[in-house]
Amino acid sequence: MVNHSLKKKRGEVRYFLLHHGECPRSEGFHYRITPTATENLLTESLRGQHPQTISIQVEGNFETQAPTNNQLSRLKNLILDLKMRYPAAVVGGHRQVQRDRKTSCPGRKFPLREILDWSNRELLKLRDERITRDLEAQYTFKD
Ligand SMILES: [Zn+2]
Repeated sequence: MVNHSLKKKRGEVRYFLLHHGECPRSEGFHYRITPTATENLLTESLRGQHPQTISIQVEGNFETQAPTNNQLSRLKNLILDLKMRYPAAVVGGHRQVQRDRKTSCPGRKFPLREILDWSNRELLKLRDERITRDLEAQYTFKD
């Protein structure tokens, strides 16, 4: 069922916000990372759970278990894709939203610190590598 109250413009994207399967709010996710696929649930230009945010749900209960390496690697690929389109946005966890401090989402066993460190240290480098690769695929630089 579609909740039409969510069909608003989301504003300029400032955050890629991470959730798990046990998020206290059950809708408003733009992407879901299942054990086997990355699904697009909501058009990026529409507002999801939070304003100025692309919401990504990683399926699983990360209070009791950690996500699989496969899920984490697909999450990183998705974040890299999004970073190409929204260069100013940064990664965060749902519980870092000021008014949602009571939730532990995306779960205590979700490696949020590791993902944030990765996005601080590696993400821009990976983005630049992709831009270079895309450019080189379009042009042949010869003298
Ligand atoms: Zn959440």
